[in-house]
Amino acid sequence: MSHTPPPAPLERWLTGPRFAALPARDGGHKAPELSFEFFPPRTEVLDQQLWHCIRRLEPLAPRFVSVTYGAGGSTQARTHATVSRIVRETTLAPAAHLTCVNATRDEIDAVARAYWQVGVRHIVALRGDVPGGGGYVPRPGGYAYAADLVAGLKHIANFEISVAAYPEVHPTALSPEADLDNLKRKLDAGASRAITNYFFDAETYLRFLDRCLAAGITAPIVPGIMPVSNFAQAMKFSASCGISVPGWLGYLFEGLEEDHDTRRMVAAVVAAEQVRVLQASGIDEFHFYTLNRPDLVYAIAHILGVRPGPVVPATTIA
Ligand SMILES: Cc1cc2nc3c(=O)[nH]c(=O)nc-3n(C[C@H](O)[C@H](O)[C@H](O)COP(=O)(O)OP(=O)(O)OC[C@H]3O[C@@H](n4cnc5c(N)ncnc54)[C@H](O)[C@@H]3O)c2cc1C
Repeated sequence: MSHTPPPAPLERWLTGPRFAALPARDGGHKAPELSFEFFPPRTEVLDQQLWHCIRRLEPLAPRFVSVTYGAGGSTQARTHATVSRIVRETTLAPAAHLTCVNATRDEIDAVARAYWQVGVRHIVALRGDVPGGGGYVPRPGGYAYAADLVAGLKHIANFEISVAAYPEVHPTALSPEADLDNLKRKLDAGASRAITNYFFDAETYLRFLDRCLAAGITAPIVPGIMPVSNFAQAMKFSASCGISVPGWLGYLFEGLEEDHDTRRMVAAVVAAEQVRVLQASGIDEFHFYTLNRPDLVYAIAHILGVRPGPVVPATTIA
């Protein structure tokens, strides 16, 4: 591997304290770096919700914000429009998700070039899934897997590239080892960071980090955090992507089906507890799946010690 020296979070995981108290203003704690994921909206109303979310989280000065990419042509156009507007109208650094599904290399390369032209410098490179489910078959003349896409993007321009990682192993991987080999291929092809799928037990992520380190992976493996307030929906979605939902989570939401306010409070406690355990284990970078709703994420960021700074209007930036 060419990633030396090891980045700070991993070094701290190996050498630092295993547990730390809540961050105190005078405790010398550095606030963690955050990033936020949004999805491109389908309607005008949802678009307003997204922009409310972006504006609310912008003062937290995330390292980057990412926008997901769907398989259909209209979702892709919405991703492009949202990312371009973030470049034009905010102080945020956007990362555009890009997938291999249903497109030729030429088509994907053209999208990447268009991103570079409007000032996008960061891509989250993914294989993607077949719309409506079903087995994935690489398209002739396309990029077969995310590692191929990473290599292709690096030929187009010197993008910063993030890729996906799976603490509970990707559902179609031949084995946990094969999945780690794949992650290594993506990093070796030019990605500089992996973002994990969400998980509920901090232990799941920390053990995955141990396995990455043992496999010689030293690039940052940023935990993906999904604050969950709708347990039934989370169960359904998690089942479809091979994420285990621990019994304790179900117990915490038991009897709250009709009690939206309490569910949100429980959600904040659960996610805050999760990030606090990770922070106490030396993790100082977090990626939040916002679902275009800012309040839970804002509260959890606050608990982590991230406070708003002044937002400099985009037009005044040189
Ligand atoms: C942070 C994050 C963001 C995401 N954003 C989006 C999004 O915006 N849009 C979207 O559609 N989906 C998104 N996804 C979902 C993702 O597209 C799916 O999980 C998809 O099934 C795998 O994508 P990948 O990039 O991990 O694929 P890959 O890294 O290519 O791996 C996919 C599977 O193929 C296997 N594999 C890899 N190379 C080979 C090979 N040469 N031969 C055989 N098997 C191989 C791997 O082990 C793995 O099981 C996201 C996932 C994450 C974690």
